[in-house]
Amino acid sequence: MTECTKTLCPYCGVGCGLEVSPPARPGGKATHRDSQGNPIWQVRGDRTHPSSQGMVCVKGATVSESLDKDRLKYPMWRDSLNQPFRRISWDDALNRIVDRIQTIRRHRGPDAICMYGSGQFQTEDYYVAQKLMKGCLGTNNFDANSRLCMSSAVAGYLQSFGSDGPPCCYDDLELTDCAVLVGTNAAECHPIAFNRLRKHHKRNPHVKMIVVDPRRTATAEAADLHLAIRPGTDIDLFNGIAHLLLRWGYFDTAFIDECTNGFSKYTSLLPHYSPDRVAQHCGIGVGDLETAARYWGEAKRVLSLWSMGMNQSSEGTAKVSTLINLHLMTGMVGKPGAGPFSLTGQPNAMGGREAGGLSHLLPGYRSVKNPQHRAEVEQAWGVPRGQISPQPGRDVWRMITGLEQGEVELLWIAATNPAVSMPDLQRTKAALRQSPFTVYQDAYYPTETTEYAHLLLPAAQWGEKTGTMTNSERVVTLCSKFRDPLWDARADWAIFAEVGRRLGFVEQFNFASSAEVHAEFVRLTRDRPCDMSGMSHDRLRHGPMQWPYTQADAENPDAKAYTTGKRLYTDWRFHTPDGRAHFVAYPSKGLAEPPDPNYPFVLTIGRLYGHWHTQTRTGRIEKTAKMYPNPFLEIHPRDAEKLGIADGDWAEVRSRRGSIRVPASVTKNIAPGTVFVPMHWGALWADNAEANALTHPEACPSSLQPELKACAVQILKVPPS
Ligand code: SF4
Repeated sequence: MTECTKTLCPYCGVGCGLEVSPPARPGGKATHRDSQGNPIWQVRGDRTHPSSQGMVCVKGATVSESLDKDRLKYPMWRDSLNQPFRRISWDDALNRIVDRIQTIRRHRGPDAICMYGSGQFQTEDYYVAQKLMKGCLGTNNFDANSRLCMSSAVAGYLQSFGSDGPPCCYDDLELTDCAVLVGTNAAECHPIAFNRLRKHHKRNPHVKMIVVDPRRTATAEAADLHLAIRPGTDIDLFNGIAHLLLRWGYFDTAFIDECTNGFSKYTSLLPHYSPDRVAQHCGIGVGDLETAARYWGEAKRVLSLWSMGMNQSSEGTAKVSTLINLHLMTGMVGKPGAGPFSLTGQPNAMGGREAGGLSHLLPGYRSVKNPQHRAEVEQAWGVPRGQISPQPGRDVWRMITGLEQGEVELLWIAATNPAVSMPDLQRTKAALRQSPFTVYQDAYYPTETTEYAHLLLPAAQWGEKTGTMTNSERVVTLCSKFRDPLWDARADWAIFAEVGRRLGFVEQFNFASSAEVHAEFVRLTRDRPCDMSGMSHDRLRHGPMQWPYTQADAENPDAKAYTTGKRLYTDWRFHTPDGRAHFVAYPSKGLAEPPDPNYPFVLTIGRLYGHWHTQTRTGRIEKTAKMYPNPFLEIHPRDAEKLGIADGDWAEVRSRRGSIRVPASVTKNIAPGTVFVPMHWGALWADNAEANALTHPEACPSSLQPELKACAVQILKVPPS
C-alpha cells in the first residue's frame, strides 16, 4: 500500500476528496488515535480534488474511526429468525444462495427474487448487481435506497430534459446571482458545497439567496429571504412565482420559442396562481412572494438547489418539473451560474443511476421499457435476446408488499438499513419477518436489519476495495483501496460475480478486477447522455474526471481532461426527440395525508449535521455521536403552550401507523402546525424514537418515491421515558 491514498468521503453526494494515511509508519508511533487510544487511519481533505479543494466536514474528518468498529467478520447463517447465527464458510454461504435462487426460479420464476442495494455501493458493485439480476436471472427486481432519496429528481430531469443528469457544476455556486434552495438544509447535509455558496454570497452583496423550508434551518439563517411555506405547497409557490414573472415580463421569449415546448399549456395554468391565493395557501406574505419573484426575475443567473424536501413527496416529480419550468421560462439553464441542480444525498447515488441501479433502468441511462435499450444491453452482456424483462421491476416498497403477499421468496439486502429507513416501519418490519429467505450483506454487525436476516455476508468496508463513485456535479473519483478487507469481508461486486459464476454465467462474470468491471460498464455509456467511455481506472488514477468524457476526448491529445466546470445543455439542445426542453404543467395536489382534527400537525423529518442516515457509521464515532446524543421533537412555542409542553418535556408523537416518545425542543425555528423529528435514530440507538414509525408509503406515481417528508400526527405530553 502507498503511504497516502486518494479516495472519496463515503457519506454525502458532495463527494469530497480525501487522503488517507496509515496510523503509523512501519516501526513508528501512531499519531492519530480514537477516543479509546486505538490507532486510527489519518484522514485529511485532498487539496487536489476539484469538487472540495481540500475541505471536509466533521463526518468526512472522522470517518476512519468507524473502520474497525463492530465489523461483520464472517458469513453467518440461521434457519429461522428466532435462532442464533452460526459461522459458516463463504463456500457454504454462496451455495445456499445459489441453491435457493435455482429452486425459486424453477418453481416461482425469477420475479420472486429481489435485491435491494445502496447509494453506498461503488459503481462497479451496482453494475455487477444489474448484470446478475436483470441480465442473468431475468428479473428487474433490483432497487436501491436512492428510490427513497433521488428518484423524483431522476424522473423530473427525464420529463423536462429527456434525460436524467444534473446539468450544473459546483463552480455555479460561485457564479450565480440568485440561489434558490428548496427543501434542502444544505448547510448541514451538504456542508462543503454550501460553504462555497455561502462565501460567494457574503463576498458579493448583489447575490441573493432564497431558502424555501418550513423550518428555519442553518441554511435558512444564511438567506436573504426565508419562505417558510406549509409542507406540500411547493408547486403553488413555483406557479405563483411564474405568475408574477409572466405578469412583470421577466421571461426569455427567444429561449422559449427556440428551445422549448409546452409554454402555452403551462401559462394557461398560471392565472389560477394569483399572488393572494398562493401566499395564503403557502402561509407566507404576498410581499415575500413578490420579493422571491423579483429576485429571480432581476437576476442574470439563477441557480436552484434541492434535495429530499422536494424529492420525498407524493408529487415529487411534479415539484421537480415545476421548478425546472421556472428555469425554462427565464432561459436559466446551460450557462454559468444558472440551472436546476439536485444535490444528491448519498455518495454514489449518481453512479447508481448511471449503472441502471433502479428497477426501471439499465446501464447508461437506459430504460427497461425501451426495446432498443434492452437489445443493446443484452448484446453487451452476451445473454439471449429477450432475456431482459420489458417490465419495470419492483421498487423497494413493492418488495415489502411482495413479502406480505407471499410473492417474494428471496430478498437480498446490501449496504442499507431498511429496518430504520423505510416508511411505515411497523409494517416494513412485519413484512421482513415474513421473508422466507433474507440475505443481508453489510460491513457492520449489528444493524437494525440484521434481526431480519437468515444469511449474513460480510462486505468490504470503504477503503478495502477499489472502485468509482460519481458526485452531484458528475465528477467521477477513483476510490482506491488503502488496506485489505478485514477478516472474511469481500467486495460487494466480487460477491455478486461469484454468485453469477456459480449459477453458470461464467463468461459474464469473468472479471479479474474492478477495473475490468469498470471498463465493461463505461463501454455501455458510449453515445449515451452520461457518456464516460473515455474513462478508465488507469486514467482516473491521475485525478477525478467529469462526464461527459468520451472515447474521442480520451484519444484526442489536445482535448482537455476536464475535471470539473462542465455543464450540460450549453448548446440548448436537449435529449428529447425534438431536442427541445418540455414545460410540464402540473396543478398542485398537496400532501397525501394532510392534517385533520384527529391528527392536526404535519410531521416533517430530516437530517442533522453530524449524523448520517441510520447512524451505522456516525453512531459508532464518538465525536459525531456526542454532537447529538438524543432524538428530539421540534415544536413551535404556540403549539407547545396549547399542549402544556415545556422545553425538555417528553412528548408522544402519534400517526395512524405508530408512535414514538422523544423530548420536546420548543423553538420558533419551526412553523406553527408543523413539527420536526430527525430520522437518524433506529432501535439500536434509542428506544421508541424511530421517525419512520410514523411516516407513510404513499409515493409519487412517476418516481415511486415515498412521501417520507410529511405525514399527519397528533402530539401528547407524557411522563419522561
Ligand atoms: Fe463527506 Fe459530504 Fe462532509 Fe464532504 S460534505 S466531507 S462528502 S459528508
